[in-house]
Parts: sequence; C-alpha cells; structure tokens
Amino acid sequence: MKSEEKAKQQAIERLKASRKAMPDIRELANQILAGNLKALSQGITLVESIEASGYQQAFELTELLYPHSGKAHRLGITGVPGVGKSTFIEAFGLYLVEKGHKVAVLAIDPSSQKTGGSILGDKTRMEQLSRHKNAFIRPSPAAESLGGVARATREAMILCEAAGFDMILIETVGVGQSETAVHSMTDFFLLLMLAGAGDELQGIKRGIMEMADAIAITKADGDNVRKAKQAEQAYKNALHLFPPQEDGWIPRVTSCSALHHEGLEHIYELFEEHHRKLTISGALARKREQQSIYWFHTALSDLWRAHLLGNETLRQQQKQLEQEVGSGHKSPFAAAQELIKSLQQT
Ligand code: GDP
Repeated sequence: MKSEEKAKQQAIERLKASRKAMPDIRELANQILAGNLKALSQGITLVESIEASGYQQAFELTELLYPHSGKAHRLGITGVPGVGKSTFIEAFGLYLVEKGHKVAVLAIDPSSQKTGGSILGDKTRMEQLSRHKNAFIRPSPAAESLGGVARATREAMILCEAAGFDMILIETVGVGQSETAVHSMTDFFLLLMLAGAGDELQGIKRGIMEMADAIAITKADGDNVRKAKQAEQAYKNALHLFPPQEDGWIPRVTSCSALHHEGLEHIYELFEEHHRKLTISGALARKREQQSIYWFHTALSDLWRAHLLGNETLRQQQKQLEQEVGSGHKSPFAAAQELIKSLQQT
C-alpha cells in the first residue's frame, strides 16, 4: 500500500513537472508577435510536432497568430537538385534584406518523407543569409509531422508572418507533389531551370511548368551565358503553347546568375509587377481565398484521419472494411459510408 502511495505521488510530481515544462501558449504567441526568434523556432517545433498533445498546442498557437498573418509576400521557389536553389535563395534573400525586407526561408522536402534524409536540408546552406539579423531560415519539417510536411510548413509560414517577416520564400525540389503544396500556399511561383544542350524542356513535368509565374534560367555566367539565353528563348516559345493562367498573368522567362548576383533585380521587378497587377485585378485576393478553402479541405481530411487513428474501434472497423473492399465483398463507396456512419455515432 505504501509503495502504491509513493508511486502515485511520483506520478503526480511527474505530471506537474511536465505541465511546467509545457510552454504557455499565450505567452509564446506574444513573444512571437514581438519578433522573438527563439520563440518563433519553438512555435515552429510545436507545429511540426508528432505528438497529439503537441497538435492541440500547435492548434491553439496558430489560432492566436492567424489574425496577425497574411500580410507578407509569399514566394514559392522550385527546381531540380543542383539547379542552384540554395545559391539563388542566399543571393536573392540578401538582396531582399538589403532592400529592407525581413525574409523567412522555409522548405518542403518530400525526400525527407521516404528516406528520413533530406535533399534540401542536410548541407550547410545559405550561410551569409542565415547570419543576417533580418533573415530566418528553417529546414523542411520531418515527414512524421501530423498532417504532413506541407501543413507544418504552411503553419510555420503563418508564425513567421506573425513574427513580422514580410517576405516568405518557400523552397521545394522540382520532383512532383510538393510543388502543388507550395503552389497552394504562395502568391508567386518561381521555377529555376538549367540551360542544357537541347534538353531544355525535359526533366521537369509539364504540370510544374504550368504552375510557374516565372522561369529563371540559372547559372547564366561565364561560358554558360549563351546557352542560358538560348534556353530562355526556348522556354519563351514553349510557354506560348500553354493555356493562359486563370489569374490573367502571363508567365515570364528570364535568366540570372546567383553567383554573380546578376538578374536578381529583374526577378524582383517581375514579382512586384505580378503583385501589383493581381492586387488591382482582385486575382490575388481570390487566389488567397481559394488557398484558404484548399487548406480547410486538407484540415478536414487530416482531422478525420487523426480521429480514426485515435479511436481503436473505428480503426478496427476500417481494417475490416479494407479487407472487404479488397476482396470485392463491398464497394469502396459503401465501405466509406459505413465508416462515416460509425463516426457520426462516436
Ligand atoms: P540546389 O541543389 O538546387 O540547392 O543547388 P545549389 O545552390 O547547391 O547549387 C548547385 C551547384 O551549382 C553548386 O556547385 C553551386 O556553386 C553552383 N551554382 C549555383 N548557382 C550558380 C551560378 O549562378 N553560377 C554558377 N556558375 N554556378 C552556380
């Protein structure tokens, strides 16, 4: 009996200690709003959390900060590994901070999902930019983040905006799905491309090109200048064949050398022009609205999945239904309906 009492007491102490260790969310939100970068990092760690309790805290934090977000420019940057993304973001980021912007760099790296490693995050990147007082760089969240890498990045973006960053650069690798995610959270989508001998239009999916608001041929320096100009022309011709963008913007093609800090200003001007035109036409506001609705749908299916995972009975039923669907005893639709009915009763 005595030892039972002692164990109980210890458990209470542990609980108290863990409560103490939990950051006070309102205080954390205030510190983020005050621009405290340590608090911002802590907050992002929360939104990347894989624990259900962390999920709740992250939810509370983003709810508090959401009203303070939305004013920043959101720029998506993609391109295959080796195209020069890090070098570009370092140079462009420095250009932006010199212009007086506060720059946050976030990433979505799908490779971290499968291998645990990361194409974007492993090397020491953007050294100069990362030391600048008006820059904040955060690698891609780990794949296990509840609701996925993209959701965590989007919430990190909200936190960065609340912390006063007015330029959010979201980087991803040009290999597929993650582009759609970046496109669904940014205003302007920049595709970086290499000039290659005759293979200008290969290696990148047409769908990704269709999303681009601008294409920049990288490494346009030294012997590569002529090839870059040729590639620029090839892409200009190719873009004519694409259907016009819904927002009325005509995608542009340019070239740059991040190494020599050339062509960056032009890219900035394109971005500004895009922002100006789409603001006047109302297309930017519409885009943001559609994006919010997209994230609402995503949150719905995430929550639904989390609910399933957290309920043993439902999980068992789902497994059973999977078998029945797999063996052809039930249609997928009927199985889904059955599960929804059970959910309504919980
Ligand atoms: P990432 O994998 O897309 O992030 O590409 P990196 O930024 O790591 O660049 C890949 C390689 O291309 C590195 O060796 C860079 O030094 C080189 N590189 C990047 N930008 C330029 C550029 O503007 N000019 C030249 N000549 N090389 C560059």
